[in-house]
Amino acid sequence: MKYCILCKNNSENFIIKENLVKKLNHIYDEVCPDVIITIGGDGTILGAIQDYFLKNENIIVFGIHAGHLGFFTNYQKEEINDLINDLNNGTFNVEEIDLLSYQINSSNEFIEGVCLNEITIVNPPRTLRLDVYIDDEFFEKYRGTGLCISTQSGSTAYNKSLHGSVIDTRLKVLQLTEIAAINSNAYRTLSSPFVLSEDRIIKLKTKEEQEIYVTLDNKSYKFNDFIEVKCFYDNKKLRMAYSKTHSYIERLKKSFL
Ligand code: NAD
Repeated sequence: MKYCILCKNNSENFIIKENLVKKLNHIYDEVCPDVIITIGGDGTILGAIQDYFLKNENIIVFGIHAGHLGFFTNYQKEEINDLINDLNNGTFNVEEIDLLSYQINSSNEFIEGVCLNEITIVNPPRTLRLDVYIDDEFFEKYRGTGLCISTQSGSTAYNKSLHGSVIDTRLKVLQLTEIAAINSNAYRTLSSPFVLSEDRIIKLKTKEEQEIYVTLDNKSYKFNDFIEVKCFYDNKKLRMAYSKTHSYIERLKKSFL
């Protein structure tokens, strides 16, 4: 098995990395790993997915949380010996987490990929104009700063700051949340977080030239010639390793209460 280690830059994490490299009986390979070990927080895992998932959809991620328990990190710093035993002896379990697929069309580019938390389409300095379609049916004309489409796992991330609903991760849904929508006599949007069934396809389109930023977890693209983004579940799943189960309710309480 080939593995690599990605860590948030700090000296303590580098010491953990060195210790792991000494004790793991596998080949270190940053180009084509079968396993990624992240040392950091949820953000380190988000970066790992953007860098590696499209190269290897079967990749297994071991997340070590360098802090308190995160939403995706299953090993605490004190549990590093468990991780070493699990990986050396193949005794770990794998949990599958739904990834949201996206396809972006601009005049010059077609970009596709997956994200774990959310996709946002924003233009903070100007009023963004988008047409929202659900399953190819026109839904609303949006005017405002932007829109966020999140997964159930991402419901506690950016979506929560937008007053979207926290979704039990046992459900599989898409959530469309507004970012400072204009609502007046001229413009009207739903104005509530909209939770949609897993088989829905959300499309956001524009007919005019405007500056648009599309964020995919912690990655972003800027467009002047954006046409549309399509968001949907395509049965792509992230494989996260764990030895002990940490309940979702426990993670929610530790993070927010
Ligand atoms: P980061 O590593 O600092 O992560 C940002 C924070 O979000 C961390 O505290 C992290 O633990 C938390 N987080 C990430 N995913 C989470 C989840 N599913 N549930 C609960 N908390 C979660 O920074 P980053 O690498 O830039 O992370 C990108 C993420 O930051 C995006 O996916 C987005 O969700 C979030 N974000 C939030 C806001 C906001 O709340 N206003 C704005 C931009 C981005």
